[in-house]
Parts: sequence; structure tokens; C-alpha cells
Amino acid sequence: MYSITSTKKLHNGIEMPRFGLGVYKMDHSEEAFNAIKKALDTGYIAVDTAAFYKNEQQVGEGLRASGKKREDIFITSKVWNTDQGYDETLRAFEKTLKALNTDYLDLYLTHWPVLEKFRETYRAIERLYDEKLIKSTGVSNHEIHHLEKLFTSANIKPMVNQIELHPYLSQVELRNFCKTNGIVITAWSPLGRGKVLQDETIKAIGEKYGKSIAQTIIRWHLQSDHIVIPKSVTPNRIEENANVFDFELTAEDMATINELNRNERFGSHPDHFKF
Ligand code: NDP
Repeated sequence: MYSITSTKKLHNGIEMPRFGLGVYKMDHSEEAFNAIKKALDTGYIAVDTAAFYKNEQQVGEGLRASGKKREDIFITSKVWNTDQGYDETLRAFEKTLKALNTDYLDLYLTHWPVLEKFRETYRAIERLYDEKLIKSTGVSNHEIHHLEKLFTSANIKPMVNQIELHPYLSQVELRNFCKTNGIVITAWSPLGRGKVLQDETIKAIGEKYGKSIAQTIIRWHLQSDHIVIPKSVTPNRIEENANVFDFELTAEDMATINELNRNERFGSHPDHFKF
């Protein structure tokens, strides 16, 4: 049984919260600030942001307004595609720290594997790790072939790969590869950007426990051993999404949801992203 503060140990020993708030598309600064503050007040202990989301400042402000200690909240950010390369990543990281108004990150990711650059980007992330400016290294949207290429030059394997993952895109092969290599998976768009929220099969499973479709999906992620970061700006949904720690899906429920996979993406495929 998990709780809102449950963590998963990364291969460097750092404990990463299994559940957090995603903050993509929180466009207005007030909206972002309010959502982040609400989540932290609700008990969330992790926030997933990125330079690209243009709300790192609000993450920092929300954290301070919540009165929580910096060391009690796990903050992830990402280096954007136009800032990739070794020196560029180091410079982008400085801006990220400044925007967040903090002196370290818990996890820093390469946002997308920009061809010809992602290994240099990761080398800079390793330097930040060596300098103790980040507690863990990671990547996002890396397919098996990107990871294999990365391993040829990396000193330390990334601790996390953040990928699009939900019941309609279960990414079994990539997940197995990451598991074999000790890389923890974070599921982005865990609710399929809202597009899995009409699913009748998941609805019927959730009804057995008095849970919504969103809650049932979040529970499926947790029981599948994914880190899960649902996004919402709506206060009652921020609470609803966290109210998933008092029930457990059966093995049969899990198998039924696993069968819903149809390799359907709602975001870009990493091999076809227009960088
Ligand atoms: P999600 O799968 O988290 O879905 C978010 C959508 O679902 C929003 O429209 C939200 O609406 C709605 N929603 C949330 N909770 C509920 C609920 N309980 N009932 C009904 N609707 C709900 O999508 P995201 O794409 O935002 O993914 C989550 C996070 O993953 C991002 O915020 C970001 O941190 C990360 N991400 C990373 C990417 C990468 O390339 N590494 C790419 C994309 C996302 P509302 O907000 O209006 O309440």
C-alpha cells in the first residue's frame, strides 16, 4: 500500500516520490502558482516542471508560500531543445535555478533527445551531478536506441527516463529495457491528457471501489511501478488525484487495464519530433 509520500529508490540511492504534480500548460502565472500551492497544501511532495513550461518561477514561489522546507519537496526540471549541447545546458541550468530561486535540483532531465546533441547535453547534466548541483540525473523521451547510444559515452546511467505512458500507450518494451538497466520510469501525460478519461472499461473497474476514472488510472500507474505526475489546475481535481492511496486494484483489474494498450500517442514520437 502506498501513501502520498511513498518514494522509489533510484539507482544512486536517492528516494524519488512516486506521486507528484505535473505543471505543463499552466500558462498564466497566477494559475500555476495557485495549483502548485494547492498541491503542496494537499500533501504533494513533488513537482515536475521544465524551462519550456515557463513556470519555474511559480514553482519556487508556490513552494515558499506553502511554508514547506525545500528539502522536503522533490523538484524536477528539464533542459529545453534549443538549449542543448554542453555549455548551453550549463547556462540553461543556471537560469532554471535562478527562476526557481533554489540552489539545487532533485532531478534534471534532457527534455527530448535532440540528435547530435543529446549526449553532450547529458555530459553537462553529469557535471552538474558531480558538482552536487543536482541530486540525480535523467532523460526524457529517450527510446531504446537513444539510451544505447547514451550508454557508450555516459559515466553514470540516467536514474530516470520520463516518457509518455498511459493505458493506451503502455510502452512495455521500453519499460523492460529501462528496468533491466536500473532506470526508473516516470509517466508523462499519465491520464492521456484527459483523453483516456472516457474509457468505459476503466470506469467499470473504478466503480467497484467508488473511484473515478482518473483515480483508477493513477492507481494503475502506481501499481505498475511508474512514477506518476498528473497535471491539474482545478483544486478539486488536485485533491481527487491524490485520493488514491486507500484502495488497491486486483491483479485481474491490472491485467484488464494492461490489455487496453493500443500504442496510441497523444504527444510526439521522439523519433519524429520536429526539433
Ligand atoms: P495529464 O495526462 O496529466 O492530463 C492533464 C489533463 O487532464 C488536464 O486537461 C486536466 O485538466 C485533466 N485532469 C486532470 N485530473 C483530472 C481529473 N481528476 N478529472 C478530469 N480531468 C482531469 O497530461 P499532461 O500532458 O499535463 O501530463 C502530466 C505532466 O507530465 C505534465 O504536466 C508535465 O509535467 C509532464 N509532461 C512531460 C512531457 C515531456 O516531454 N517530458 C510532455 C508532456 C507532459 P485541468 O488542468 O483543467 O484540471
